Amino acid sequence: MQSYFSKVLGGLIHLFYPNTCLGCRNGLLKSESYLCISCLSKLPYTQFHLQQGNLVEKCFWGRVPLHQAFSYLYFRDKGMTRNLLHRIKYQGDKELATHLGFVYGSRLKEDIPELYYDGILAVPLHPARLRKRGFNQSHEFAEGLSAATAIPNLSHLARREVATSTQTRKNRESRWLNVDSIFSVNKQLADQNHAPHFLLVDDVITTGATMESFAASVLNVLPDCRLSVASIAYAV
Ligand SMILES: [Zn+2]
Repeated sequence: MQSYFSKVLGGLIHLFYPNTCLGCRNGLLKSESYLCISCLSKLPYTQFHLQQGNLVEKCFWGRVPLHQAFSYLYFRDKGMTRNLLHRIKYQGDKELATHLGFVYGSRLKEDIPELYYDGILAVPLHPARLRKRGFNQSHEFAEGLSAATAIPNLSHLARREVATSTQTRKNRESRWLNVDSIFSVNKQLADQNHAPHFLLVDDVITTGATMESFAASVLNVLPDCRLSVASIAYAV
């Protein structure tokens, strides 16, 4: 775990030298944001959006039906993805989450010209948690994706009702039946069109349990819709 001292030091470095690379700490050019071009080229990209049957898709097989699933980066205990996510979460840099969404959205659009969803839905934070943290990083990531792809961010139509879930204690069947009590989804989503396709997004996918519950909540309200999943990172 990163020490308190190094967190404070990291914060101070950025306070006095705001334009330093989050990877190597060298100065950034005006054309660079957050990472220098060298660190940007070394990020652990998954390229999952080009790979059917990738690790994120496999993670949900037999759990919830998804059309596609992909993550931008691999997440490991050490490394640049961790630096980026910690900066968002512990230094409150919500613009970085939006920036990553924009960069990833631009990449997706370029690689998949037929990319289309009726809307993007971020996994919601419980309102009490949201008040405490000030923002939902998944929502900010969705904003960036939306800006790059012109797909509407409909995250305001979903809500987390329960702060901490007890789903780990339950078996899969009862968890499915219980999803309504964790997330609620506004029926307005059904007005999109006959059988909409939504992109559900989160910051990190680890076990996939939260995303599974959220997807099941959406399917409970809209059984005919298609779902895909995207995240900033996939934990390996
Ligand atoms: Zn760098």
